[in-house]
Parts: sequence; structure tokens; C-alpha cells
Amino acid sequence: MTKKKNNQVYVYILDKEFCWVPALLVEQSKEKATVVVTDYKSEIEITGSNDPPPGRSTKTVTVKLKDYPNSVLPLQNVVANNHNVKPVADMIDLSFLHEAAILYNLKARHIQSLPYTRTGDIVIAVNPYKWLNKLYSEENRTHYSRTLVWEAAKKDCDPRIDLPPHVYESSALAYKGLAISGVDQSILVSGESGAGKTETVKICMNHLASVVQQEHTVLDHDTASLDMNVITKVLDSNPLLEAFGNAKTRRNDNSSRFGKFIQLQFEQGHVNPQHLTLKGSECQVYLLEKSRVVHHDDEIERTFHIFYQLLAAPDPVKTKFWKHLQGKDNTHFRYVGPTDTHSIEGVNDSDQFEKTIQSLSLIGIDGETLKTFLQAICVVLQLGNLTFAEDAKDSDHSVIASTNELQILGTLMGISVDKLSATLTTRLVKVRHEETVVPLSPESAKESTDALAKQLYDRIFLWLVRSINEATTAGGDLESYGHIGLLDIFGFESFPVNSFEQLCINFANEALQAKFTNDVFVSVYAEYKEEGIRLEEITYDDNTHVLDLIQNRTGLLAMLNEECIRPNGSDSGFVNKALHSNSKSPALIIPRIKTSDVEFGIRHYAGDVMYDATGFVTKNQDTLPTDLMECAQSSTNEIIAKEIAKTTTSACSQNAKSSKGSPRRKQSNLVAPTAWTKYKSSLDHLMKNLRKSQSRYIRCVKPNSLKKPAIMEHSLTLQQLRSSGVISAVTLARSAFPNRLEHTLILNRFMFLLPSKHRRKWKSLDLHDPEDQKDASEMLLTHALEPLLGENGVKAFVIGRSKAYFRGGALEYLESMRLKA
Ligand code: ATP
Ligand code: MG
Repeated sequence: MTKKKNNQVYVYILDKEFCWVPALLVEQSKEKATVVVTDYKSEIEITGSNDPPPGRSTKTVTVKLKDYPNSVLPLQNVVANNHNVKPVADMIDLSFLHEAAILYNLKARHIQSLPYTRTGDIVIAVNPYKWLNKLYSEENRTHYSRTLVWEAAKKDCDPRIDLPPHVYESSALAYKGLAISGVDQSILVSGESGAGKTETVKICMNHLASVVQQEHTVLDHDTASLDMNVITKVLDSNPLLEAFGNAKTRRNDNSSRFGKFIQLQFEQGHVNPQHLTLKGSECQVYLLEKSRVVHHDDEIERTFHIFYQLLAAPDPVKTKFWKHLQGKDNTHFRYVGPTDTHSIEGVNDSDQFEKTIQSLSLIGIDGETLKTFLQAICVVLQLGNLTFAEDAKDSDHSVIASTNELQILGTLMGISVDKLSATLTTRLVKVRHEETVVPLSPESAKESTDALAKQLYDRIFLWLVRSINEATTAGGDLESYGHIGLLDIFGFESFPVNSFEQLCINFANEALQAKFTNDVFVSVYAEYKEEGIRLEEITYDDNTHVLDLIQNRTGLLAMLNEECIRPNGSDSGFVNKALHSNSKSPALIIPRIKTSDVEFGIRHYAGDVMYDATGFVTKNQDTLPTDLMECAQSSTNEIIAKEIAKTTTSACSQNAKSSKGSPRRKQSNLVAPTAWTKYKSSLDHLMKNLRKSQSRYIRCVKPNSLKKPAIMEHSLTLQQLRSSGVISAVTLARSAFPNRLEHTLILNRFMFLLPSKHRRKWKSLDLHDPEDQKDASEMLLTHALEPLLGENGVKAFVIGRSKAYFRGGALEYLESMRLKA
């Protein structure tokens, strides 16, 4: 099982601390293996490719193989008489294939500043945590596009063969795919927070833009159709969305707090139909984390970048938008945080603000519109400064204690202080046709104000996305364009406490995983099976039962929707019903020891997650009380008024809670689509788009939690590789055959390769019979591919019922013979 040099055999053994460590095998039987392991002190010194640090002690360990059957794995590609490992660019070339080999291969490359590794068609991108200039140089961009787009047709083998792995291959091949076949393309980028999804999408988009430019300036004379303004606008939409939708979190200084799918729109060239012109883009966003507006972890995290950018701008700049910002900084606004909050290393918020303003102006947001837009942002900021207290005259009532802040807010919104104060401290409750005003406790009033701020910010963000789309979408018949879609969506999440947002995020990941599984595994596997070809056993997780549990007719979210329209709907009521109607689902975890009535769990493809359903009903209803909406709608700020008006037309039932804790009462009978319904429909739309496109996958990996270059934490990395399906994909891609052709086509194309005496025989037979076709094809290929027969008798092809499958290079060989004939 191992490769020997100088009689030494190296293996990887399972290790509690470092997952897998290289070791010297002393002896091995069926029951046990004896190995010598170095006493490693840290992950940094275990490269898997070098001798252990000098002077480090070793120990002999016996591993009971009966108890841990897969705990000793062969170390591979051993060269010389130490255990130096030569990293490979494509995992398929690993001579031994298992997760330890994959881990150490990625690690060796990561340390050498080679962030990209191939697994067949999938690109694995390990976040280098330092900008590698050469990797993204103009020269490299051209090199990938020249090789993969313009010269690929001339080659009779995989055009990537001489290229180091790169995400530029994903963008170049997507471009080529669209140009040649006209089929929409998509690049699906996944990974956990901080793995590099957003950067990767930008790198791919920049490359696509540069391919378009190269085509026009170098290869095409069709320069009239190249519109640099479109390209700049499209590329600029990314940093703009980041300013309003990204924030510093524990795990990533520039964490996207929303998901996005950008579709680039291309038109075929007039001179050469295979040359594409970028005409525009359209962006779809998912689930902005609006709770971050009113709350974030003060120690490390921040709210959305735009607030800090605006407050960091010099007085003369920021007071142009709102006079009140004169002399104000972060300390004056509660929502941003109590200190001059946490600057981000290497980022100057004031400079960023200037860039944001420039990008806004590029899409036509300037002058009065810009002022209105930023004032709407200021309204959100100012809402955070309201404080509430019990009314001294009547303890059932609350009052706004911060009268000065209220006055400022009133002026900014163009709403009288009395009206604002009344709306924020009471709730209008309709029972049948009777309206009652219920006073709110200071806590409820604060909650309701926060809810308004969250809703407003969400609406302002969507207004921005719409404005970007209006400025970037190509005109005319959208159906006539070809698309390359880039998906940058939140990865799987599992925290100590998981809520409604995590359920939504994890559901999207389940749906995408199902597509990945389908693309990579099921289709290939089913095809081989159909063809009667045996493959090595491949294990993969089919997650349909998880999808069923969440989205079925009686699934978790249907139950939640039902609970939201019930007059006295509650979180515990939802959990109770959801558990009851799905008790047979293998994906559901019902807590054995019940600590609360709002707990349930799901066995996700990436691991078990326990959810706390507190707040599910309110979050799913996702609307404001009608009186609060009507008040906001009366604002003189046009963006606020118009955006809120869109929600009031479909107000949802709301529960109001008075200061005396009066029973929850139904306030309105109008039923709006719930957050889940809206989210599900946008995801369905996404999946529909993806299904009709040819997808390429980039799996991003976060190598360490320190956000530092050249360090790879084993456990963190392995867990991502497992949950992203990379490990199983490697196994499959290796056992698969890269090319396939139907027997009839083989006979048509290559019959001339058969010696004439055999040809005569087959010509006399009825080749409409599939069995005869198969036999003839086998005979032809056995003869024609004899020169490629491996030393060990391994053929360069296998015969299936309707097709033959070729190992790498075999079909190219046949084609080259045809050219010579
Ligand atoms: P989130 O889910 O939190 O949005 P993400 O996967 O989008 O995370 P990014 O914001 O793309 O992660 O990357 C996090 C950080 O990692 C970047 O700000 C950058 O510092 C670094 N990084 C990512 N990709 C690269 C790269 N290719 N080269 C250099 N640095 C990178
Ligand atoms: Mg991101």
C-alpha cells in the first residue's frame, strides 16, 4: 500500500490534535500498525513534505486497526529518501487518494503561494490572505484568455493542460462556453465566511471584462460596440454593494451580510458572432442581515460600512448631506457603537466614502437624489438615538426621554414631533371594526423603533440595488442576451445559537449542494450505471430528505407560515407542530432532553445544527405595524415614503403587546407574503436560472482563523473540504473517464482505422442492432487504441451499452489519427 524508498515506508496517521500527521511505518499486520511519529509542536512545522524539525523527539505508537480501520493511510509521491511530497496541480493526479493527501497537497501549495488547485473541473481556492500581484497581472489575464478562449479550438486535448490552476480558467471557459454554444453559463462560488467568495467573484468579473476588452482591441475591429462606461459601471457595482451590505465581523473584516447573484449580459459580436460584447448586468440580492443595523458585537464587529464612511468624512463633506453631522462622529450615534469604533486595518473610511460617492454618481445617484438617499441613511442612524422611559404621570405609558434627539429626527424626516412620539409609544390595534390605542412599555417602544430602523435600512438597500440595476441592465429584449451568472452567497452557518436567518441560509446551501451533488455525482454515476460500467464505490450524501423536511407541504417552513396567520401564533406552537408532523423525517433532530419548547435540530449535509425558534414568527411576518408604516410613509424624504408605501399595500397580521402584557391581538386581516415565502420564491428563481445554465464550481477555503498568510489549520480546512463535497468529488473525478462517444458515432468516424478485412465483416452486418454496434465499436477501439494499452494491461477505454468511455488522451489520439488519414 505504500511507496518504499530505501526500505522506508511513510504513512499518515490519524491524530487527535492535527487530524493527520506523517509517520514512519515500522510494521503492519491486519490487527495493528506500529509507526514512529515526531512530537510535533504546531501545525506550521508539519508540512507533510519536509523532514521533521531537527532535534525533535519521536515516539513509537501502535495503532489498533480493528478499532480505527482507516487510521493509517499511505503517504504519496515519495521522492528521495526522506518523505518529500511533490504537490500536484490537479488532485486527480494524486497517486493515493484520501483526505490526508488532499489536505497536505493543498497545504504544500498554500505555503508556496499557490492558492488554486484543480479537482477535475472544480477549482479549489485557498484564501492566500495576501495579494499575489503576479497571479492577477495583465499578462496572466491575457495568457488564460488567449489559451482557453482563442487558441483552445486548435488543440486536441484539454486546453488547460499547460496552465496552472486559476479562477481565470473558470471565467475564460464560461466566456468560451457562452460564445461557442450560446448556452448561459454560471460560476458558483461557495465557502464559509472569510473564505474569499466575494474577492473571487470580483477577480472573475474583472477577468471577463478584460477578455471582452482584449477581443475588441486586439482581435476584433468591431470597436464601436465596446462601451467602457458599461464595463466600469458593472465592475463598480461590487464595491458599491459592499459599502452598504458588508460589515466587519469576527470572521471577516469585509463580510458580505447578504447573498448576491450577478448576471452579466452579453451580446454576440456583429463581425464575429463568437465575440461577445458586455452590454450590462443585473443583480439579485438575498437576505440582508438587517438586524445588524440595531445590534452588533461592540468588541470586534461593526454595523454596515456606510455608517462609518459617512461619519468619517470631513465636516464640509458630510454637512452637505445633513447639517446636523457638523462635529459629529461615531460616539454620537448609538447604532454604530460607543467608541470611535474599530477601524479596519488598511481601510480609511473617509477615503472609502469618497469612492462610494463616486460610484453612486456613476450610476446616476447624485445631487438631490444623493442627498435624499444619504438622509434616509441618517434617519436610520438617528432612530437609534431615541430613548424611552416610563411616563411619570401614568406608568402604563412610555415617553420618549431624548426629546432633543426626537426633535432632530422629526426635522430630518419632515414629520411632527407629536406624531412621531405618538406612533412610537403607542400601538393602534384594530379588533373587528374597532380601533383601540394601546400604550407601549418603554421596552416595546424601543423594540418597535428598532424594527422601524431595520425595515427602513432593508428598503433603502433594495432601493440602491434597483438603482444599480436600472443603471446597468442592458436595454432592449433581455431574452436576446447571453448570460454569465456569478453567485456569491453565504456559506453554511452553525453557531452556538442558530435562528431563523441560519435556517434560511442553510436551506440555500442545501439547495445548492443538491445541485452540486447532482452535477458532479448523480449524473455521472447514473450514466455509468445505465451503461453497465462498474465504478469504484463512491460515497456521497444525498440531501433530498433535508430539503423535504424544510420545504415540503407539511415541512418546517410551511408550518411556520401557517403559524404566522393564526391569531395567536407563537414560536413554541410552531415547533410543536413542526416536530409532530415531521417526526418520521431522518433529517429532523428532536432534542432528547427537552430544555425549552422552542428547540429543534436538522441533520444538514455539512453537520447537525440545533435551532432556537425564538422570534421565528415575528421574523417571518417581517412587517411593521400599520400605524408605524403610515407614519414613516408621511415622511418628506421621498425614498423613505415611497419604499415604505410599497410595504403598506400588503400589510401582514401583527401582534401588539401592551405595557400590561395584554393578550396578543390580531391587528389587521391583510395577509402579506412572509419573509420565508419571498425568500423561497427568489431562491426558486435562482435555481431555475442555474438549472438552465452550464455551471462551474469554485470552492473557497479559509485556511486559518487568524486571517494570516501561509498558515493552514488542519481541522478547519478538512471540515470545509468535507462539507463542500470536495473530498467525494475528487474520488469521483478520478474514477471517471473524461471523454465519451456513442458507438454509432465511433463507427461513423473511425471505421477507417479498422483493417480492411474486419471492415468488410462489419459492413455486411446490420449495424442498426445496438448489440452489433457495441461489438463493432469494441473491436474497432481495441485495434485502434492498442498503442495506448498500459503496461499493466489497462485499456484506454471501456465499453458501455451505447457509448464508449475514454481515459485521458485516448479520444484525442483517435482524432489525431483521423486528421492524418
Ligand atoms: P463572507 O461570507 O464573510 O462575505 P467571503 O467568502 O466573501 O466572506 P472575502 O470577503 O472574499 O470572503 O475574503 C475575505 C478576505 O480575505 C478579503 O478581505 C481579503 O483580505 C482576503 N482574500 C480573499 N481572497 C483573496 C485573494 N484571492 N487574494 C488575496 N486576499 C484574499
Ligand atoms: Mg463575501
